[in-house]
Amino acid sequence: MTNRYDALIIGGGHNGLVCAFYLAKAGMKVRVLERRDIVGGACVTEEFHPGFRNSTASYTVSLLRPKVIADMKLHDRGFRIIERTISNFFPFADTYLKLGGGAARTEAEFARFSQKDADAYKHYDAALEKVAQVLRDIALQTPPNAGGGARSLMLAAQQGWPLAKMDLAAQRDLLDIFTKSARDFLDGWFEHDYVKTAFGFDAVVGNYAGVSTPGSAYVLLHHVFGEVNGKMGAWGHSVGGMGAITTAMAAACAEYGVEISLECPVDKVLVNNGKATGVKLASGEELYAPIVAANVGPAMLFRQMVDASDLDPDFNRRIKGYKTGSGTFRMNVALSELPSFTVLPGKDKAEHHTAGIIIAPGMDYMDQAFTDAKAQGWSKKPIIEIKLPSTVDDSLAPPGQHIASLFCQQFAPELPPKKNGSPQSWDDVREKVADLIIDTVNDHAPNFKAAVLGRQIHSPLDLERKFGLIGGDIFHGQMGLDQLYGARPVLGNGDYRSPIKGLYMCGSGTHPGGGVTGAPGHNAAAEIIRDRSVVWKALHRAR
Ligand SMILES: Cc1cc2nc3c(=O)[nH]c(=O)nc-3n(C[C@H](O)[C@H](O)[C@H](O)COP(=O)(O)OP(=O)(O)OC[C@H]3O[C@@H](n4cnc5c(N)ncnc54)[C@H](O)[C@@H]3O)c2cc1C
Repeated sequence: MTNRYDALIIGGGHNGLVCAFYLAKAGMKVRVLERRDIVGGACVTEEFHPGFRNSTASYTVSLLRPKVIADMKLHDRGFRIIERTISNFFPFADTYLKLGGGAARTEAEFARFSQKDADAYKHYDAALEKVAQVLRDIALQTPPNAGGGARSLMLAAQQGWPLAKMDLAAQRDLLDIFTKSARDFLDGWFEHDYVKTAFGFDAVVGNYAGVSTPGSAYVLLHHVFGEVNGKMGAWGHSVGGMGAITTAMAAACAEYGVEISLECPVDKVLVNNGKATGVKLASGEELYAPIVAANVGPAMLFRQMVDASDLDPDFNRRIKGYKTGSGTFRMNVALSELPSFTVLPGKDKAEHHTAGIIIAPGMDYMDQAFTDAKAQGWSKKPIIEIKLPSTVDDSLAPPGQHIASLFCQQFAPELPPKKNGSPQSWDDVREKVADLIIDTVNDHAPNFKAAVLGRQIHSPLDLERKFGLIGGDIFHGQMGLDQLYGARPVLGNGDYRSPIKGLYMCGSGTHPGGGVTGAPGHNAAAEIIRDRSVVWKALHRAR
């Protein structure tokens, strides 16, 4: 086997595969180097208990760009999304709220709590959709790069024009979303706490923050810029789990001759005179290529794989300060029966079982979860989203039995020391915290605990060890204004190029950030191809 390639990709997550696909399609000889024994990174399906399979990390799909789906012919390769009748079900202490199922239905549901909120809903939805469209439009575009010269000015003008054209109300909404807390933003629209909660929940998903934390409104927006089968803002289930997406992507790569090596961890990026020349594998083997694209996050790439001496001190300082840690705890559970909720009893499959079931009864509950996590490392009453994929997909659990994804927010990336001052690790408390999560679900669905046949726990530390997510950050870095768009990961390197020539970034630590979008992989490949054609033209002229 040769050790020379046109491009090497560090990591076989979905963005690494997307990047590899476009590069190979452009005629390059590409090899993907994946540490695990499975492709897909955080977008995989795995058996977690004998006979029970699930999407073990990411679990629901919306943000994947339609262009990427079409270019990689994912539908021809087995990718299929099932839409849910309603998006979310919120059990509260004395009642419940169902969100989704069309505007008329949502309005009627809100009217049970507040007619004013029901009337405001369509205006809120239209306003959010206008701003989400801006995000949709720029997701597959390279951000203008600070100090990037004429092309960056052109990109800034191109991408700024739709904003300049927006009416004043939309510009005000945009400003609010980028600067306000979710609570302040929602207070401006709605009066009832349950209605605000139904939207506010999105602001704390993958965001180690409360709904009152400034900037949290943006994360709310990040969760609505997607679409499912042409329906804007919808989320759906990938049949066969999220791994079906990356299996299809790997097949698309194979068609263009991409070599994918599993159990092939990269140790270092090889750099000579400020230029990437290849990688050194953990096995000691060296592979060479003029282009290296890192699908791993910026924290791992620049803190672990590139020698600090190959980067300037200012860049090193900024990468040291790059914020990771989404505060997420993720469990997969095998169930003998479906949960029966106190506020909506029944173990037979019903509409609400097919939705995202959100244990976050109130805006104060969500703020308190964050306050607790900062003080003791996790919340006494955690925020939990439950999805029961086996209610819409019978390929994942044995007949009559079920699986649950439990996606839980506000779990400190690193735990505070114990009372006696000694350090505390997630390994010390993961079982105890998993029990608390199960008990919290049980408080709302009293048959849940007894139905658990097996469980898989991913604490923030497990997410780091298993999926290579530094600080357990599900997005490869926090999604605050200081780490978005042209400032993701660092201002001046927001265009997928690192400070080292030939070393690119193609993962979620670049614009437009985390989620199964395929956008960073797509955009990075476009920049690599662009740089390569400039070099080729220069060589051609020199001959
Ligand atoms: C628990 C969880 C829940 C989520 N839920 C959702 C969701 O429901 N919907 C959604 O859209 N998004 C969700 N996300 C976010 C989304 O899954 C990620 O943002 C996205 O999958 C990241 O893709 P990526 O290709 O950029 O990086 P990754 O998937 O992280 O890929 C990086 C790859 O690099 C590999 N790697 C690491 N170290 C090395 C090394 N030394 N050598 C070689 N390879 C290495 C890793 O194994 C991995 O395969 C979730 C994420 C997590 C973790």
